[in-house]
Amino acid sequence: MAKKAARKVVKAAPAKGATAVTKAPVKKAAVRKAPARKGAAKAAPAPAKKAAPKGKAKYVYFFGGGKADGDRTMKDLLGGKGSGLAEMTNAGLPVPPGFTITTAACNLWYANHKKLTPEIEDEMLANVRKLEKLADAQFGSSTNPLLVSVRSGAKFSMPGMMDTILNLGLNDVAVEGLKARTQNGRFAYDSYRRFIQMFGSVVLEIPKDKFEHEFEAVKHAHGAATDTDLGEDGLRETVERYKALVKKVTGKAFPQDALAQLKGARDAVFRSWNNPRAKAYRRIYEIPDHIGTAVNVQQMVFGNMGDTSATGVGFTRNPATGAKEFFGEFLINAQGEDVVAGIRTPQPITELEKVLPHAYKELRQITTRLEKHYKDVQDFEFTIQDEKLYMLQTRNGKRTGYAAVVIATDLVAEKLITPREALLQVEPTALSQLLAPVFDPKEWKKLAVATRGLPASPGAASGQVVFTSEHAVEWVDQGRKVLLVRKETVPDDIHGMEVAQGVLTATGGMTSHAAVVGRQMGKPSVVGAGEVAVDEKGKCFTVNGQVVKEGDWVSFDGLTGEVKIGQVATNPSEILQVLGGKMAKADSAIYQRFEKLLSWADKERTLKIRANADQPDQAELAYAFGARGIGLCRTEHMFFGEGRIEKVQRMILATTEADRRAALAELLPLQREDFYGVFKHMHGEPVTIRTIDPPLHEFLPKREELMVDIARLEATGGAADVLAEKKTLLARVEQLHEFNPMLGHRGVRLGITYPEITEMQARAIFEAACQLAKEGGKVVPEVMIPLVGHVRELRDQKLIVERVAAEVMKEQKVKIKYLVGTMIEVPRGAVTADEIAQEAQFFSFGTNDLTQMTFGFSRDDIGKFLGPYQERKILERDPFQSIDTVGVGGLVAMACEKGRKTRPDIKLGVCGEHGGDPSSIHFFHSVGLNYVSCSPYRVPVARLAAAHAALQVKVGD
Ligand code: PEP
Ligand code: MG
Repeated sequence: MAKKAARKVVKAAPAKGATAVTKAPVKKAAVRKAPARKGAAKAAPAPAKKAAPKGKAKYVYFFGGGKADGDRTMKDLLGGKGSGLAEMTNAGLPVPPGFTITTAACNLWYANHKKLTPEIEDEMLANVRKLEKLADAQFGSSTNPLLVSVRSGAKFSMPGMMDTILNLGLNDVAVEGLKARTQNGRFAYDSYRRFIQMFGSVVLEIPKDKFEHEFEAVKHAHGAATDTDLGEDGLRETVERYKALVKKVTGKAFPQDALAQLKGARDAVFRSWNNPRAKAYRRIYEIPDHIGTAVNVQQMVFGNMGDTSATGVGFTRNPATGAKEFFGEFLINAQGEDVVAGIRTPQPITELEKVLPHAYKELRQITTRLEKHYKDVQDFEFTIQDEKLYMLQTRNGKRTGYAAVVIATDLVAEKLITPREALLQVEPTALSQLLAPVFDPKEWKKLAVATRGLPASPGAASGQVVFTSEHAVEWVDQGRKVLLVRKETVPDDIHGMEVAQGVLTATGGMTSHAAVVGRQMGKPSVVGAGEVAVDEKGKCFTVNGQVVKEGDWVSFDGLTGEVKIGQVATNPSEILQVLGGKMAKADSAIYQRFEKLLSWADKERTLKIRANADQPDQAELAYAFGARGIGLCRTEHMFFGEGRIEKVQRMILATTEADRRAALAELLPLQREDFYGVFKHMHGEPVTIRTIDPPLHEFLPKREELMVDIARLEATGGAADVLAEKKTLLARVEQLHEFNPMLGHRGVRLGITYPEITEMQARAIFEAACQLAKEGGKVVPEVMIPLVGHVRELRDQKLIVERVAAEVMKEQKVKIKYLVGTMIEVPRGAVTADEIAQEAQFFSFGTNDLTQMTFGFSRDDIGKFLGPYQERKILERDPFQSIDTVGVGGLVAMACEKGRKTRPDIKLGVCGEHGGDPSSIHFFHSVGLNYVSCSPYRVPVARLAAAHAALQVKVGD
């Protein structure tokens, strides 16, 4: 029940943002992956086959000798890597030749019981022959063997998730050929050893440690401390041992036929599309399952042929800061995998200039060209073999939100892209990273991850653990930094949440109280950290065997959900410092860029952006973030302000209308004052104020707590008046108890049973509005009735509002314009929207309740079953975060149409959580809403997402 109350107090509703922004497995530099794939599920490309040219389907695309069958536009079919290789080849860059087996072949392989058709096998063979010709080398040759790499490559990069095989083509004969050609026996046998190990583990699925075990035994026998201490003899011995191992485990000799090796490796890469790692990655980044991976077969070049060879990875600009600097690292005498394996420490890429100046110069020229060509930062891989540079990959680089803004604005300044193109380079959710406090990355890495929860609200939080809001407030008053840890938060926690650095809860989902309030406040929050067992009485929590006591330091990253035990320094966001007047605009380069980017967005978007806010300070912040109007002011939240709850309780406990009116009269000035503040900070923009929504018992103490208090007072002979008061409260709590409060006495139903509450709220709204109007301020109140399912409910309440409005205007001798409308959040309301529009001047879609009631999923309990639903692909995404466009969205679209039919100029908006979610914003744009409303901190995200929607670009594509 408390949870329900929680929901109510809550208000705003940012939406996902951080949601799926789990820390990506990072392949190269320590760069957090931007939430680039948000919405990719919807942006799913058409099945790859569609991209194939007409006529006989082509499944293998060759590249080499300055010409490629494919190009950059064929990512769906060739994958990111394949299309990049084709494009670089066409541009005349030094790319080792090869061919790409398409994603369509992968899908066909799965559909065809994990086999390709003979025609595709023939097509591949023809390409092998072509490659042999171009490379002037043959598979399995004893004098000049062709060696290839076999790599995965889906449309969206999935770093490290799928399999790769290098040095393919080596066998007992070819290894001698390699030795003869390179005059280097050690190199040849080391390559063979690596190949058997990779092929053995990836294709034959022999555990890697079995190979390691053999290798260690040989090293030990030869007295070799490291791999490189082992000479050709030792490596030959290792090869023999590896082959024996393969025979023992599989019952068959290690395959000597290079073509059979190739087919096995290709199929293993296809198979790796569905390994648990890749599947989990796709789920997190919302990459569709059906797109499949391509396979790239490419002639090997060797970075491990001595000190004039090297391999490395890099970015044309710094992907963490966006700075225009050549960024990356390399290793001399190494193979690609060594750079990422972390066995040897790579050198900064700028050092390459000293050791291999020609290759470095060429690399700079090529990558600069590539950046100009792709008009975006490039993430590249290269190998230098005997001083000759080869490009192995290029793609648009992943970057932090901060870097995204810097790079996009820089590229416009450099006239490489237009402001429109710049907008599309920045993922809307990336902007929320700019508002969150951040950890010092070096310090953060020093601590181990204790557990993970849902990344509900981005930002870095570090503080001393407290378990109650009272302690939070007390400790903060003493000058300490605290982290509020709760099993779950309740409305009363609002004070604690406000002062805490962050909030960590053991239960709850992405729309739980802590999550929604956290986002609204811009407070870092990690929720539903199930491994955290909170013992509030014992003032400690345990997590994976570790006990954390009150006062111990804990830190978490609300962007990734990672929780660590210990203290880590944080830096506040510059943007917030500027908006809060603590820093001058002129002193913050990032603020200026942020503002510039959003000003471009404002020119493109047609959706208006409002904020969900119910306090004057929130309205002020929302306006500063660019909100032009309030889409939802949850008036009940004002009841929880300091010294107010007693007055609310008096109102609830009143047994006669007269008593209730007396209590309401005390609330009136407080509400009026808040409304006045909200109006004022909106500078004449429309303000939608919703009449009371949650059931009344949510404002009373919990039944169980009261029972304990009463028992204690009775046992200890406590004061009779206190006891009597508690008993009265308990009786009322029991009277108000509901079996299903979400479907109970709430929303418009309260206004109908207690019209005096609506009267008081209407009076407070119009008195505040008149006061401001008399002072010369502009004000446009929009009074909103919640939970309406029948037009007569609205009519009933509208009469009250209009009557009170007329009374107040008469008393105050001032006329103001206002609207009366309703939330559409009950399915019946959507279905009868044409009737409701006879009374409503506007609709605001309450997609939280509409989702709850359309699916019949409790918004507070979905966390219990959402996981399996997503794993089994029953639902792609949490429908409380991202609108279910077919079902709930269908109702929204229908209600818009019906509403407009009755009242062509009806104002349409949304104020549920989805109003701040980029892919939902696309949907709202498409059905023609006038505005979306979200939490103040999500306003920048919504501005950019609305621009993306207007530019008709699907998020994540
Ligand atoms: C909604 O239901 O979408 C809404 C905005 O109202 P609340 O979250 O307060 O129920
Ligand atoms: Mg609602």
